[in-house]
Amino acid sequence: MKKKNLILKLILEKEPLSRKEIVEKSGIGNITVSKIIKILINEGKIVKDGKIIRGRGRRLSFYRINPDFYHSIIISYDGNKIIGGVTNYGNKIIFKEDKEFSEKDEELFISRMISFIKNLKENSKLDEAKWKNIGISLLGAIDIKTGEVLGLCGWKKWERINLRKILEEEFKKDIFLFDNPDVLARMEFEIRKNENTKNLLYIYLGEGIGLGIILNGKIFYGSSGNCGEIGHIIVEKDGERCYCGNYGCLEKFANISSIIEKIKNGLKEGVHSEIEKIVNGNIEKIKIEDIVECINRRDKLCIEVIENAGKYIGKVSAMLVNIFNPDVIVFGGPLIKAGDFLLSIIKNSILKEALPLLLEDLKIEFSNIDENEGILKGTNLCIADIFKNRIIKGGEE
Ligand SMILES: [Zn+2]
Repeated sequence: MKKKNLILKLILEKEPLSRKEIVEKSGIGNITVSKIIKILINEGKIVKDGKIIRGRGRRLSFYRINPDFYHSIIISYDGNKIIGGVTNYGNKIIFKEDKEFSEKDEELFISRMISFIKNLKENSKLDEAKWKNIGISLLGAIDIKTGEVLGLCGWKKWERINLRKILEEEFKKDIFLFDNPDVLARMEFEIRKNENTKNLLYIYLGEGIGLGIILNGKIFYGSSGNCGEIGHIIVEKDGERCYCGNYGCLEKFANISSIIEKIKNGLKEGVHSEIEKIVNGNIEKIKIEDIVECINRRDKLCIEVIENAGKYIGKVSAMLVNIFNPDVIVFGGPLIKAGDFLLSIIKNSILKEALPLLLEDLKIEFSNIDENEGILKGTNLCIADIFKNRIIKGGEE
């Protein structure tokens, strides 16, 4: 049993490995290794992969972890929409679906989430034996130690509810809770793995503003999983009151609803803007896409509001550059629909305010990944990291 775990651990850490390499690295004899490999293949934990060519063009048999070692259900909720997917260890999305709902009552929210998971399992025909865990990624504040949700983005109030415990009791699976910026940072890191990226910052710009941090190739969660609350860094002394209780937070200038609010206020003060035409005079219907359209039409009011938001985002980003000295800083979320116009404002503000010696090799980019897919896959990667660590540290799977 011990030898089997040792070999599994080796493959998890260093896959793909040939039989010869397993023998060398484990110190276990040839015959025993062959036997254990057979057992692990039969158990569906590893697969043989003969496609790799090393040395003088020889095709060698390599062993790697079976991408279908286990399957997960991944759920994400952003305040308006719930998305769900069935994924495998190999980070493939096998099935996905989503549903609009903005339930602002905790109990109703949880019961709807539970029935969404049950339906997802039914619709995807997920094999109960393969299904090992559920990963939940939320835009809000969570406590990864206790499994409590402390608040969701855009919710005025939220009674502390232990979502992990409720779901564990309901489904009898391992439940993992994450914050959206963290899982998106993990995904952005994954696609840059070969670029020698070690330190990456991911800034989510949407209804909330949050930061995901990758340090030395690993997510930094903070003590309770709540580091990166950059939306509530105060950027203007004596500014407007924020829902967090403070005044002049970054979110008051740069989250989507504050941006829309500022444009509406401009219109109410009589400033002329193209946006009125775009929404047919119904200013309650302004969306981020309309603002982007106005920027393309060189509309003064929208340009001014986005410029201001971009400057403050850049200001906070410059502080982060000084603190973390990252290789790359990636921005994602709905606000990046404002494209190069916004990116150049953020870049200029970072270049102006961060310490110059930290800027030489710094990459500043907008995300290219589809957000929903990024959340599902990023959450799945975070679970795989935890799973790998558990086995490597000596536990059995
Ligand atoms: Zn605040």
